[in-house]
Amino acid sequence: MFSISRTCMRSFTHIPAPNRLSLLDCYLGCSQRAAGRWTGISSRRCLSSVEGQTVPSMLRHLTSKIKATGPITVAEYMREVLTNPVSGYYVKNDMLGAEGDFITSPEISQMFGELIGIWCVSEWMAAGKPKAFQLVELGPGRGSLTSDILRVFSQLQSALKGAAVSVHLVEVSPKLSQVQAECLAGDHTQVCVSDEEGVYRTGTTQSGLPVSWYHRVEDVPRGFSIFLAHEFFDALPIHKFQKTEKGWREIMVDIDPEAPEKLRFVVFPAPTLASTTLIPADEKREHVEVCPDSGVIVQKLANQIAVEGGAALIADYGHDGTKTDTFRGFRGHKLHDVLLAPGTADLTADVDFSYLRRMAGDEVVCMGPITQRLFLKNMGIDTRLQVLLRNCRDASTHAQLIQSYNMLINPEKMGHRFQFFSLLSHSRMAEPREEGEGLKRRKKGRVPLPVAGFTHLGLQ
Ligand code: SAH
Repeated sequence: MFSISRTCMRSFTHIPAPNRLSLLDCYLGCSQRAAGRWTGISSRRCLSSVEGQTVPSMLRHLTSKIKATGPITVAEYMREVLTNPVSGYYVKNDMLGAEGDFITSPEISQMFGELIGIWCVSEWMAAGKPKAFQLVELGPGRGSLTSDILRVFSQLQSALKGAAVSVHLVEVSPKLSQVQAECLAGDHTQVCVSDEEGVYRTGTTQSGLPVSWYHRVEDVPRGFSIFLAHEFFDALPIHKFQKTEKGWREIMVDIDPEAPEKLRFVVFPAPTLASTTLIPADEKREHVEVCPDSGVIVQKLANQIAVEGGAALIADYGHDGTKTDTFRGFRGHKLHDVLLAPGTADLTADVDFSYLRRMAGDEVVCMGPITQRLFLKNMGIDTRLQVLLRNCRDASTHAQLIQSYNMLINPEKMGHRFQFFSLLSHSRMAEPREEGEGLKRRKKGRVPLPVAGFTHLGLQ
């Protein structure tokens, strides 16, 4: 075992521009949600993200683990810090919003979720309006996205007539599942005594739809499903690798020999299972991050979409196989050293969409990534804004609407940082041929996401 080289160390200490948004960036105080028009932020439960004992207990847990078995992979470090069932960051905290560590698009404006709701309905219609319609969200945070989507579903009741809609939430955090339950179902949920079916909570939404919670994607029942993942894949554990003279080597987390209460990165001297299996032979970069968990999940979604029908929409910050060192921490809306006080800050890494495309394989058609700005513009955000402005009576809500719109689509804010990527079934892409010729497949390759704008469904 030897320490990470100085040059390599620099690559860790260099922290790229933040993608998660700080409150300063967001002017949240002026956001439409904060105005309380829909669900005011003040009425939401905001828990402190630093809960007394978290720091020492998580650090102690990690150092004993390292003392017992040697340095751990960055993936293991991230998994422990974020989702350890006792003291993981996501398991214990509600980290979203003004008093949390970061803010996300669904929390900024109702328009975001509404437009995604339209996307869901249009994909369901394009699939021939199957009777069963599962809306599945991975990592639903406070439940705001699903809540805004369900409001659209209620408004489009006539279009959805005959569909048996059900809601399925994949959430690792008991704390957040409770926040989601309050947001979507009020008091109408029950924690399951046994989770043998993989379901740990069930309930009925305010509009009367069945809603269930699962720890893992594979526990969600099969059937036609629209999957949504907003800022979910960036929270999954990554492995980090450095190219050396001897070949690819994995970066590990170790105890600093000069300060036993501190952690540091080291380069593992020999190949590891991950370094020999996860890096493509033609990789050109000197440093790469790979998230095998995201590959496994995308393969599951692709298979389910291919067999049962449906679609997946993945929205996150990311790149198309070009970036190198993107691992970073966020605490109180500021960048935070990823190895400092583990368990008190969010850890995140950019999503590699080229990897997701590779893992999805040929079972589905992958589209995008396209920018959030383009996606929302194509979906009709300008029309929706005009309608909301027209119906708004006071000047401050008017200004807030415009500010939250700007936050979502301005290229300098969230407009270009966030990318939309989708998985669609091949049948969705088929075009009718001349009469009697059946269906033909569209040409392969990078194609833009198909969208049905707000106006198409008459939702004004
Ligand atoms: N989608 C929400 C929240 C993003 S934060 C929004 O955009 O506002 C990440 C979410 O994913 C949280 O709900 C977190 O608890 C959940 N999460 C993180 N890792 C997970 C895992 N391995 N399995 C299931 N849920 C996870």
